[in-house]
Amino acid sequence: MKNAWLVLLLLLVAVPALATEAADGAEGDLPVKKETVVVQETKDLRDRFTGEPATTFKLIGTEIEPGTRRSLQWFSPQAPGGFAVATPVIVVNGHKAGPVLCLTAAVHGDELNGIEIARRVVNSLDPKKLKGVVVSVPIVNLEGFFRRERYIGDRRDLNRYFPGSPDGAYPGRVAYALMEEIVKHCDAVVDLHTGSFYRENLPQLRADLAVKQVAYLAEGFGGLTVLHNAGPSGSLRGAATAAGVPAVVMEIGGPLSLDLKKVELGVKSLETLLHTIGMIDRARIWKNPQPVFYASQFIRAEVGGILINKVKLGATIKTDTVLAEIIDPINNSVFQVRSPTGGTILGRAQNQFVSPGFAIFRIGHKRSKEELKQKAKAEKEAQTEKVLEELGANEATRDR
Ligand SMILES: [Zn+2]
Repeated sequence: MKNAWLVLLLLLVAVPALATEAADGAEGDLPVKKETVVVQETKDLRDRFTGEPATTFKLIGTEIEPGTRRSLQWFSPQAPGGFAVATPVIVVNGHKAGPVLCLTAAVHGDELNGIEIARRVVNSLDPKKLKGVVVSVPIVNLEGFFRRERYIGDRRDLNRYFPGSPDGAYPGRVAYALMEEIVKHCDAVVDLHTGSFYRENLPQLRADLAVKQVAYLAEGFGGLTVLHNAGPSGSLRGAATAAGVPAVVMEIGGPLSLDLKKVELGVKSLETLLHTIGMIDRARIWKNPQPVFYASQFIRAEVGGILINKVKLGATIKTDTVLAEIIDPINNSVFQVRSPTGGTILGRAQNQFVSPGFAIFRIGHKRSKEELKQKAKAEKEAQTEKVLEELGANEATRDR
């Protein structure tokens, strides 16, 4: 009962917050604060398998017959009149009813591994055998992709503008269109990413394990490492989950180039997911179906200079292990970066020039799924407390 009141209170707090931000003039698409995320029940994928034959699936004004594959053109706000470049959307409608699984890639235009993973997964699907629907938007940020850049036009990070709004800044309009026209028609979303700015990530999922359906989705990927955290403010993952569509991010490698070994791993993980949740029968299933869960921390450069890595992605390290050297090429000094903790290297910067404060490693700490679920629960409760406290404080101010 107490929980029901908390949810109601959160809704009351969240909705006006969203409304004010959307109406806030030029900066109207400010990222939504974390407190507003996850206030409604997410969809349950298992309810979608009715055993019935599939029906026609409708998306962006097109009807896709059961047992067929279609390539659609999506005219997002990225395609102004006269320069109509449509974003490709591929839909595979299966022969039997099932969930709608959506794949999005290149929300950051320079992240190529996900584009190739989505292409291979969709190519391998046989609509005559698929249960449910797979929708793929392999290049969400077409503009960034053509310019080989992370950001969308306006030099902004599209993945900080979800759920967006129809009358705000440009990236918010693109985000809004994607949410309304594609994401809200999905039962689950897998958003494919890589590390940013010359950083590479060990293949891993990012998932908010406090949300039951997200945890269910994350468990379907076989042996892929899972890093528990809520999506950053304004991210597609956070906004989709908040809108009732459970979403996870798959991080694979680094930007600007293709890493075919990691692409292959990503394909295998997604095919394992499709099999585990019951959408396909045949699959190259992940041999070791035991997920490993991590909490994590960043190690930042204390000094600026040329970074030379001493450890590989996935390496197990101890406290005081030398992770890297940062060399000052002007006065010829060498600074050793030592780990303040033991753990696993989940992400690292490639060898390059770094400034003080640049995140050079992400170190993971193995936890059991139960431990992380507990942690997630505690975080959610703390967030709720905070919102209630702020609410109390506001009321106190108003009373005065
Ligand atoms: Zn990204």
